[in-house]
Amino acid sequence: MTRPIAKPAYVPARTRRRQRTPSLLRPALIIALAVTCVLAFPTVLQAVRSAGGSVAGPAGKAPGVVAGQVAMAGLQTGACMSFPAKSGGSGKTVFIDPGHGGLDPGVVGTVGQQQVLEKDVTLAVGLRLSALLQSDGYRVVMSRTRDSSVSRLSASDSVTGAMTASAVQRDLATRAACANASSATVLVSIHFDAFDDPAVGGTETFYDAQRPFVAENKRLASDLQAALVSGLGSTDRGVWTDDQQVGPALTASGSMYGHLIELGPPSAGYVDNPSQMPGALVEPLFLTNASEARLASTTTGQQRVAVALQAGLRKYFSGA
Ligand SMILES: [Zn+2]
Repeated sequence: MTRPIAKPAYVPARTRRRQRTPSLLRPALIIALAVTCVLAFPTVLQAVRSAGGSVAGPAGKAPGVVAGQVAMAGLQTGACMSFPAKSGGSGKTVFIDPGHGGLDPGVVGTVGQQQVLEKDVTLAVGLRLSALLQSDGYRVVMSRTRDSSVSRLSASDSVTGAMTASAVQRDLATRAACANASSATVLVSIHFDAFDDPAVGGTETFYDAQRPFVAENKRLASDLQAALVSGLGSTDRGVWTDDQQVGPALTASGSMYGHLIELGPPSAGYVDNPSQMPGALVEPLFLTNASEARLASTTTGQQRVAVALQAGLRKYFSGA
């Protein structure tokens, strides 16, 4: 069985491009040594909406919507923001996680002389998807609504302008904790891909196979993948379990864990508050592929990705 060739999420682009592995499979997560402090938060936390909320943050960018920050310790301003459904009310909550942010740019692609940062594209797509889903009657919680990390960083969380491995790990764990605190129905993490060979392109989606809700995970990932391939006309690189995308990790803890932190099972001292709902991580396009990076950098392309994800979620919720 072949494996996804793309570099998995969360490894900084510069690191990725320097890494050479014997196979096309590239190493996976940036993983930190166990950091437990942030993971010790209670999992049952109440979402606070509207300006009257006790820790209400500034409104997000979705037009005409009053947002509120979910009540949870250790959040950046604008992180873990709840947006009410605009119409109807399905009673369901979609947690949208735009990958990376702040000091973590993610993949750095180029279009002409312009850099295309993964963190900017994921946020743009996430905000567009949020607006679409609110109109469909879903409450949406965004892990972040601006160019920032999700967990609040201290001075020791960065070195020479880059997040430390432990800060990245904590930030990812905080995203899962936010999804739990939001009582989200599903979790969708948005990333964009990278590979050494600029000719490589296409769409991949990941899910975790070691959760009690693995059947829903797989169905969600498959529905999102099919909708992306259809909506973007991209190469179908397949749906994969997140352990298949983990190559040599950068730390012993990460190597032992072997899952995406936002999707994976509990691991004492490493992922103490795992996401409690079906989830998938999408990689719609490669930012290292010139034509795909160009598409991803335009509002038209970002809207196409968002509309495709909306279609995939509609399919998933229809249960078909
Ligand atoms: Zn990423």
